[in-house]
Amino acid sequence: AIRIAGVSKTYGTYEVLKGIDVEVARGEVVVICGPSGSGKSTLIRTINRLEEINSGAITFDGQNIHAPMKTRDLNRLRSRIGFVFQSFNLFPHLSVVDNVSMSPIRVKGVSRDVAHDKALLLLDRVGLADKATAYPGQLSGGQQQRVAIARALAMEPPVMLFDEPTSALDPEMVGEVLAVMKSLAKDGMTMLCVTHEMGFARDVADRIWFIDAGEIIEKATPEEFFTHPRHPRAQRFLADLR
Ligand code: ATP
Ligand code: MG
Repeated sequence: AIRIAGVSKTYGTYEVLKGIDVEVARGEVVVICGPSGSGKSTLIRTINRLEEINSGAITFDGQNIHAPMKTRDLNRLRSRIGFVFQSFNLFPHLSVVDNVSMSPIRVKGVSRDVAHDKALLLLDRVGLADKATAYPGQLSGGQQQRVAIARALAMEPPVMLFDEPTSALDPEMVGEVLAVMKSLAKDGMTMLCVTHEMGFARDVADRIWFIDAGEIIEKATPEEFFTHPRHPRAQRFLADLR
């Protein structure tokens, strides 16, 4: 579904991504891990072009995401790639159901009634059917993040990107968000997740990419990665977690 070929990116003279070559198949769940500052967020943000690249190409179902294109076409492409960040960024003045239904109404021209019905189904799916009329400020962090996931799903994206979706949460709320992500994975969603939740990586990922200083230095199954990491940097990373 996604092919990243020879992607490099620099900030001034600093090379933050150094020739990344990876692919994600449809339905695959990839966990991206690595030390702070290694380029994980930058890499995932290039996929929906929140970051530009200096060389290489990223294709999504054959379409070059970094080709010159009109804003409208880029927005259409972006609407097919769901993105969930560390901070949930819900609209505080909109109810939960309005947060979830807003993009389908505004971007896809879906009617308000249809979008609301769909939003209620999605809220049920993330375990928040009873919070539809609440406002974000009335919810816990874990609940807000689940709303953010429902909001991304409302656009029916074939791919979901997650950048440390649980790292801003109190520990007791991490599990509920991971459970939603796990159920998405089980339903066949194509997912790229930057996360430090190694339990999730072990249980849910099909592939793990370990990135260090702008290079993916290890691509492995969870089994391989957790039992026999090949690269010394990966070995040290895992040792430091324990
Ligand atoms: P973390 O685990 O802390 O989130 P990360 O792996 O996501 O780290 P990135 O946020 O991708 O790392 O950053 C990679 C490198 O690029 C870092 O050294 C960072 O300081 C640098 N960087 C990121 N954004 C910018 C920017 N807008 N301008 C200059 N340098 C940047
Ligand atoms: Mg990051």
